[in-house]
Amino acid sequence: MLVICHYGEIALKGDNRKFFEEKLVENIKKSLQQNRVLFNYVKRISGRILVELKQEEEGEKLLPQSKEFNSLQEKVKNALQKVFGITYFVFAQEVYPSTSSGQDPSTSSGQDIECLKDKAIEILKKETFSSFKVETKRGNKNFALTSQQINEQLGEEILNKISSMRNSADRLNCVKVDLHNPDIILYIEIAEKYAFLYTKKFAGPGGLPLGVSGKAVSLISGGIDSPVASYLMMKRGVENIFVHFYSNQQGYEQSLEKVRDILRVLKKYQEKIKVYFVPLLDIQKEIVLKTKADFRVVLYRRVMFLIANEIAEQEKAKALITGESVGQVASQTLDNMLAIEDAVSLPVLRPLSGWDKQEIMDLAKKIGTYEISILPHLDCCSMFVPEHPATKANLKDVKKEEKKLKLKKLIKNALKQSKIEII
Ligand code: ATP
Ligand code: MG
Repeated sequence: MLVICHYGEIALKGDNRKFFEEKLVENIKKSLQQNRVLFNYVKRISGRILVELKQEEEGEKLLPQSKEFNSLQEKVKNALQKVFGITYFVFAQEVYPSTSSGQDPSTSSGQDIECLKDKAIEILKKETFSSFKVETKRGNKNFALTSQQINEQLGEEILNKISSMRNSADRLNCVKVDLHNPDIILYIEIAEKYAFLYTKKFAGPGGLPLGVSGKAVSLISGGIDSPVASYLMMKRGVENIFVHFYSNQQGYEQSLEKVRDILRVLKKYQEKIKVYFVPLLDIQKEIVLKTKADFRVVLYRRVMFLIANEIAEQEKAKALITGESVGQVASQTLDNMLAIEDAVSLPVLRPLSGWDKQEIMDLAKKIGTYEISILPHLDCCSMFVPEHPATKANLKDVKKEEKKLKLKKLIKNALKQSKIEII
């Protein structure tokens, strides 16, 4: 069985194209392997990625529409719907029409169109429909017929053959062409050596192949927002390295397990997940002891950013990612974002900054993290926090408070005690 993956052309133009395509091939292979789908090859051909699946089980070819065949298709869908960069994919049948180059076009076009016709009938006779349309894309301009000519000739063949296969006396059973609202579309793609035929397109997630945009460190809490932010940056090709801060006191192990569970879901989109678990209790205690209560939230968060920045440097990552959304909570006013971001040199990506909570929750449900995120957990950020934290932190005042802390030493210790895990 053949699968053709299509990707967004615009982003892939220019010198980067080969690099993008190779990454996409690599990611498709990983996702198929992760979903236990066997394949013979995954390769680039003229603007698409072609996958040939292994569908023989114990030497026997799977029959189309059989239970095993359908379950294989489901596994493939599951895998490819999570590979960023794919705009859509199809299960196709292939024929190998010879092209007109070097041959007499009048004879070769006859041959070419004949094998397309046979395949078209073979595919459509299994389908139930009363109206149809043929849509041809001719990537190979050497092919003897234009797209329009192919559409017309195949259309006529389908009208004649399918109608005569059905009981033509029964008028309801007659087939007709409908260009605007057909029951079924037969797609034809004429590539270099092959022509592909199919009737259904499946949406991929879009975006860019994971890894083409470099690495960033994602601050992941146990909440709803941060996994969604990570997902969105993965979708733009950014490989995420995760950092989670926890208060190392009773019950924390359960909260770490919750974060691992969230990361196991994200692993479906990014095959290798590396996470730093960083204990924050000592730093929090010091902040509580030495600084004014009003500044705690901003100071905690500056420390988190500083540690994440340090990890990013170790990992050669070029940005930080957070799930912040403007105005959602006290620490996410523009004033506070400014006071927090000032602590670090790397750009902070906040893909959710303009999103409503409902929009974030909807996407969390779609990607599969929501149900885990809503389970209760210890939130280290809300510990020792005053009921009404400052929403307009003044940077000068924040820095003055921060000077009371032995930050360098505290951060060094926290990093020393942190644990790295590969999920
Ligand atoms: P979330 O739903 O992701 O927890 P939130 O709306 O609860 O977000 P905050 O708790 O203010 O908001 O956190 C804002 C962002 O800061 C989070 O999206 C995440 O990127 C980061 N963050 C918060 N807590 C932690 C933590 N314990 N470890 C790592 N990052 C965190
Ligand atoms: Mg949170």
